[in-house]
Amino acid sequence: MTDVPEFWPTAAALAPSSLAGPVWVIAPHPDDESLGCGGLLAELTDLGTPTWALLLSDGGASHPASADWPRDRLARQRLAEWHAGLDLLGLHRDRRLALNLPDGRLPFPWQEGGAATVAAIRSALALAAPATVLLPWRRDPHPDHQAAHVLISSALEEWPAARRLEYTVWLSERAESADLPQPGEATVWSAEVRRQAGRKDAAIRCHASQLGGLIHDDPTGFVLQEDMIRRAVSGQEVLLEVRE
Ligand SMILES: [Zn+2]
Repeated sequence: MTDVPEFWPTAAALAPSSLAGPVWVIAPHPDDESLGCGGLLAELTDLGTPTWALLLSDGGASHPASADWPRDRLARQRLAEWHAGLDLLGLHRDRRLALNLPDGRLPFPWQEGGAATVAAIRSALALAAPATVLLPWRRDPHPDHQAAHVLISSALEEWPAARRLEYTVWLSERAESADLPQPGEATVWSAEVRRQAGRKDAAIRCHASQLGGLIHDDPTGFVLQEDMIRRAVSGQEVLLEVRE
């Protein structure tokens, strides 16, 4: 594993109150928003900053061999888990949208279905023109996360002034050195969210289907590891702002 934290001592403090609303958090899968920036979301909703959430995929591919949890059932469960987590983080129910795209197959804009997906993201964001967007880091090491980044960036051509802050999910788990921000590429921000650690931990744990205790008939299914959750709730969240 790459020693990512050596990159972060240069981080500048990000004050949640400095983020203009409406803030949109966009997640490729249910749970990415909680893992990547759940503490910041809790801070924003405490501050009363209008905060919206958009979920791209249905999350239905995490346990492909399960007979008890076929894709449709799993997708319904994951949507319910997503809502439960966002309840804990303080997001209004009427500020959430889910596009239900196929987990594991998010297209890039130039692939089949890509243009329609960009249009769907743009239609969602038009409900509350974004001032700030929290989106996956462009080289977060997961194909859906990288596709999501490009899809969202295309949709944001409509709102060029929107501030983009990129959260990381898999960087500290799987990154090669080329996945990291390169010197001078991005401002590395750190949000101090220690006081939200309990809420963030509880929001992550709403995703029971990903924690190994709910689905028992797919030994190859995805399990979110405890050491990853521990790192996620360590009290700091890194957000990367690329100088375009
Ligand atoms: Zn994800």
